[in-house]
Amino acid sequence: MSKDHLQQNASPTIRFFSGENVPLEMHKVRVVQKLFLPPIEERLQAVRRAGFNTFLLNTREVFLDMLTDSGTNAMSDAQMGAMMQADDAYAGSQSFARMQKAIEDVLGKRHVLPVHQGRAAENIIAQSYVKPGNVVPMNYHFTTTLAHIQVNGGKIVELVTDEALEIKSDNPFKGNMDIAKLRAVIAKEGVANVPLIRMEALTNLIGGQPFSMANLREVRKVANEFGIPLVLDASLIGENAYFIKQREAEFKQANIADILLEMCEQADIVYFSSRKVSSSRGGAICTNDKKIFDNMTVLVPLYEGFLTYGGMSVREIEAMAVGLRETTDEAVIDQSPSFIRYLVERLGKLGVPAVTPPGGLGCHIDAMGFLSHVPQTEYPAGALAAAFYLISGVRGMERGTVSSIRDENGNDILADVELLRLAFPRRVFTLSQTKYVEDRLHWLYTKRHLVGGLRFVEEPAVLRFFVGRMEATSDWPEKLMAAFRADFGDSL
Ligand SMILES: *Cc1c(COP(=O)(O)O)cnc(C)c1O
Repeated sequence: MSKDHLQQNASPTIRFFSGENVPLEMHKVRVVQKLFLPPIEERLQAVRRAGFNTFLLNTREVFLDMLTDSGTNAMSDAQMGAMMQADDAYAGSQSFARMQKAIEDVLGKRHVLPVHQGRAAENIIAQSYVKPGNVVPMNYHFTTTLAHIQVNGGKIVELVTDEALEIKSDNPFKGNMDIAKLRAVIAKEGVANVPLIRMEALTNLIGGQPFSMANLREVRKVANEFGIPLVLDASLIGENAYFIKQREAEFKQANIADILLEMCEQADIVYFSSRKVSSSRGGAICTNDKKIFDNMTVLVPLYEGFLTYGGMSVREIEAMAVGLRETTDEAVIDQSPSFIRYLVERLGKLGVPAVTPPGGLGCHIDAMGFLSHVPQTEYPAGALAAAFYLISGVRGMERGTVSSIRDENGNDILADVELLRLAFPRRVFTLSQTKYVEDRLHWLYTKRHLVGGLRFVEEPAVLRFFVGRMEATSDWPEKLMAAFRADFGDSL
């Protein structure tokens, strides 16, 4: 791969003659996958078969799959090419050496432990640092992070600022940690009981919202003061770096490569899931501290694989190395945030409620604003995800009370926010597909009174959002389908 290819710096959002700002695809499509848009009658059958749970749909039933960005980004020609040159070896593979060099160049860390995916890194870090009764302060949790800390007997505290959970905001850095709250937690728990401080780049569960470099530096200062290691979850670091450049005055002229290096420099341990960087598996734990490295090394052969593959295939390692280098290219990392911004701004003009400011990862629709007549106990985000699939064939993910749990009395613990997440994996969807999403959301919003609630018919005790099944509380899906046919005729 030539240096020129990596160092282009074009921002793909350009101003049209009409005055509109439009995100341009800075790539051409050379390999394609055929899509299907089944008619609405088939979609109704599919959503019933799936128990109104979008996780249980098959991709053959789905037109645009916006469930997640995990393992679904488009690969570049450079990534595919590198996969062909992978060096098969149990130990000492050149592919690993290339990945290690990429991590050193892009993230600035010399010591690398490979793992098969992000949660495996969390397992190793949690086992090495978290003891029963410990408390780990973080800006916000991620599902697998929380689980690994709890399995090791620890607890978490979430220290985003209060306004981070507001749907509509103009706070450019909702992912920031509240430094006063961090000091208070350390004072209350005692330094000995706080084994790590964790910062997550582009906080996933609050809408792909970034933290600022200024905030990360402040957190670093506190970590230094108390001698607590700072861990950076860098799974979505590229987009966070992009927002730092866009939104933080000091970095207007900086290049992404330098921002990435400075972010990682603040952390003692950097880990990431490579599922967000390429379309395959993988991940790594990285540090410059030999003691930290030695402390975790033994767990890698135990759980993952030998130290030069960590459960990944050499092809996945090559794709990850190239994917990391591509993360320094603004035209690559701008792709999903610029499409999300476009969609969120257009939905805003149409009055469709969505999380602002637009984040990375996906467009998050506010289901309680959209379906204000559906009580939270009837799962508005789940109902919106099912209704939107029914009328469009687009699959999103429920992020609300269906994804929550019940209390000891069997009552739902209502989620802070009810969101429908429409993920934008990198370079996968085109602008006309994005316009289709906008158009169908707009139509559904005008017919929102037709959408009713859901109730569980099969509810597993753990992780019910993955495999639980629900039904509609009335015949609203049929009424919605009839309204669709009335407005769109024979159109799909
Ligand atoms: C995806 C993700 C993880 C977990 O990674 P997996 O590869 O899915 O195990 C951890 N943290 C963040 C922020 C993520 O987005």
